[in-house]
Amino acid sequence: MSRGFDSHFGPPSQPISVAEFLQEANSALLSGSLTNASWEQLTPEYDNAAEAEISGSISELKSSLEQVWDNPVLSAHVLRQHESTVAAVRGQADAPAPKGRKRKRYVAPEGSESAPEVLQLQEKLDAVNLKCWGLTVESALCMRAAKNSDYNALDAPKKTGTGVLRTINHGDVGATRNSTPDSLRSPSPNATSYLNAVISLTVYNRITYLPSCLTRSSQHAVLSTQTLDDLLRVIPCASSNMPIEHLDAEGDISGYNLPDQTGEHSGSLFCIEGLVYGDRSENTDYAEKLIAHFQKLPEGKRPKITKASTSASETAFSALTLRIHQPYWILHQGNCEHFFVIDQIRHGLFHFNSITTLNVICRLAHPSDPPSGYPLMLHLTPTLQDLCRACGKVPAVHSIVGDMRLGESPCLLCAPCWRTMGPPKNDEDVMVVPLVIHP
Ligand SMILES: [Zn+2]
Ligand SMILES: [Zn+2]
Repeated sequence: MSRGFDSHFGPPSQPISVAEFLQEANSALLSGSLTNASWEQLTPEYDNAAEAEISGSISELKSSLEQVWDNPVLSAHVLRQHESTVAAVRGQADAPAPKGRKRKRYVAPEGSESAPEVLQLQEKLDAVNLKCWGLTVESALCMRAAKNSDYNALDAPKKTGTGVLRTINHGDVGATRNSTPDSLRSPSPNATSYLNAVISLTVYNRITYLPSCLTRSSQHAVLSTQTLDDLLRVIPCASSNMPIEHLDAEGDISGYNLPDQTGEHSGSLFCIEGLVYGDRSENTDYAEKLIAHFQKLPEGKRPKITKASTSASETAFSALTLRIHQPYWILHQGNCEHFFVIDQIRHGLFHFNSITTLNVICRLAHPSDPPSGYPLMLHLTPTLQDLCRACGKVPAVHSIVGDMRLGESPCLLCAPCWRTMGPPKNDEDVMVVPLVIHP
């Protein structure tokens, strides 16, 4: 069930032309119509009160949480309450017991539940009017243990490119708001290139042993000025790090070389909204190959796709029309598949809650948003690596083929264990194959 939830996307949004979105946002920005007229009508007192509430409420929430969490008696009580609610929901829904180790039962120490501070807290919690966050029988469908793809191997956004977020000085915005010169009122033809949009997207891979299900692999933020190839270059993928085989005169494999990190992706294509963007290599455009392949299918079964007029390296995101929450298909390195889903399209400078009501700003781009280094990698699922078969402690880096001393072939070893083994006796039959290095 939870696998199914993870591989289910949508409903998709309406198609959004990135170029039109930018044009609308930029012209609204330049004409100063970003502030809603109703804000102007507020009295200064109301304005101040609203601002105090906005800036105060978070710290109030935070401190009340910390008060409970920092007190061992109170936090233990809250934890026990949660555990028993979860157990009750699971029991009612007849959900199978979670796999793995049995859940610990939290038993309250004698008298702790009747401590005055606990009773006081419970009274306060019972008085909360917000009831929609409670757990119901239906919640059992969405309850699962944490998975590997829930964790992030990155502790901060990682700069993986050279894209720069173009912004304008705050002075410029103020000037256009107060006394907008006529020249700025209607956006100039190059207004769309004035600022860029930030598009965040998530990359999904098929689960090897369950190919109809997908799992989250990474999340990226690209600029609308960047191309599909710019994205392809930064998607973490084992196929892009495959060691290169060395062939001898007879065509047998004689050794391996580590791949050169040129970021070149032979045999690649993107399939977005019925259009295929190929790699336009001299004689083998992958888009043409795919379409030729589909021609072999019976007519009723052919996917309705056509070749785009530009290749992936020529296509910037600003030239695309995208739907949010709609999975798109990537094929590269010959036959390696990925899917990507647009999570958000936002203006580089402002957050809008909707592209049709531009006069409402959700929030300003956060000052901590990195100004350069796009595409940024926002999330990376930790890679589960095979451990060394000898020590069982560190990830293996070699696959040893044909060494009679190891008792199995191939045998995965770490570098120190393989060094400690010394040279093999049947030297000429042994091959040391480097394993893929994960980013
Ligand atoms: Zn791949
Ligand atoms: Zn080892």
